[in-house]
Order: sequence, then structure tokens, then C-alpha cells
Amino acid sequence: MHDLMFTLPNGRYLLVPSHVITTMQQYRQLKSTSKEQGGILMGVMRAERDEQVSVDNPPCIEVLSVTEPCRHDYATNTRFVRRCEHHLADMKNPAKTYKDLIYLGEWHTHPEDNPLPSRMDLRSWRKAFMNKLAIVVIVGRETNWWGLWADNKVIPIDKLHEF
Ligand SMILES: [Zn+2]
Ligand SMILES: [Zn+2]
Repeated sequence: MHDLMFTLPNGRYLLVPSHVITTMQQYRQLKSTSKEQGGILMGVMRAERDEQVSVDNPPCIEVLSVTEPCRHDYATNTRFVRRCEHHLADMKNPAKTYKDLIYLGEWHTHPEDNPLPSRMDLRSWRKAFMNKLAIVVIVGRETNWWGLWADNKVIPIDKLHEF
């Protein structure tokens, strides 16, 4: 597994370290009994102080850490809802190491080889990220789907490099 770099509009980048991918991929729904799982993405956005960030002008984004599901979350074969407080509590630990660490978005798994957002995903992202910028990830059995949420819609983002 390698670090990943994606291109965002305006030539900015999204950087994802390999340990983040490895952590999320442990929860791939490879068996018919596997439940949907998920968590939060945390990291940093880099933009000039007075810069207006938008879908056409996103900041550079670096994912530094993700939270993992636990038994207190709600999980079925096709649905995952973060219920446990540990997701938010976990943000405080890396925040000590990385001063500007923020909530970047969320990830969850799908029981699909090459996943795409469901109608329910779009509805929940619209609610969670109203007028915000976020990174959303769906971990599939074979490939993962990455999106940039901005201007209240999602755009798929393509992998640029693996290194
Ligand atoms: Zn928990
Ligand atoms: Zn979904």
C-alpha cells in the first residue's frame, strides 16, 4: 500500500498516507455477513488566510488520521451510523500532535466491488456538510470511491499518483 495523491479542481491536491488506506480497508465487506463500517477523516486544509475556498478553488487537503468503528456504533449489512462518542473524542488525541487538525469528512464501506454513493449517502452528506467542504470516501471490495463535497454536491476525484 502506498501514499495516494489526488487532484482537486484548480490543480490542488489531496494527500492520503498509506496507513489511512490500510486502516479503512481492514473493514472491507468481503463476506456476505460483513457489516457496513465507517468513521471520521481528520487532517488539515491549506489555504491562504483570506482565500475564498470553493468547489473551483479548494484548498490543498491532507488526511492525517481516521477513526475506526466500534461495537457502540450502529451497523447492518447496508447501513452504518456513527453512534459512539469515541469518534469525536479521538479527534482530540491527534490534535495534540497536529495543531490545526480539523474534521475533514467521513468514510464508510459498501458491500460492492466498485462502490458508488447511494441516494441515502447523498442525503446524509447534504445534511452533514451543508455549505461546507468535505472529503467523502466509500470503501469497496475492490476499489474505493473518493469525492469532494463542495457547493452542496459531490464530485468524484481521481487518483493522480501512488508513491
Ligand atoms: Zn466507540
Ligand atoms: Zn453508502
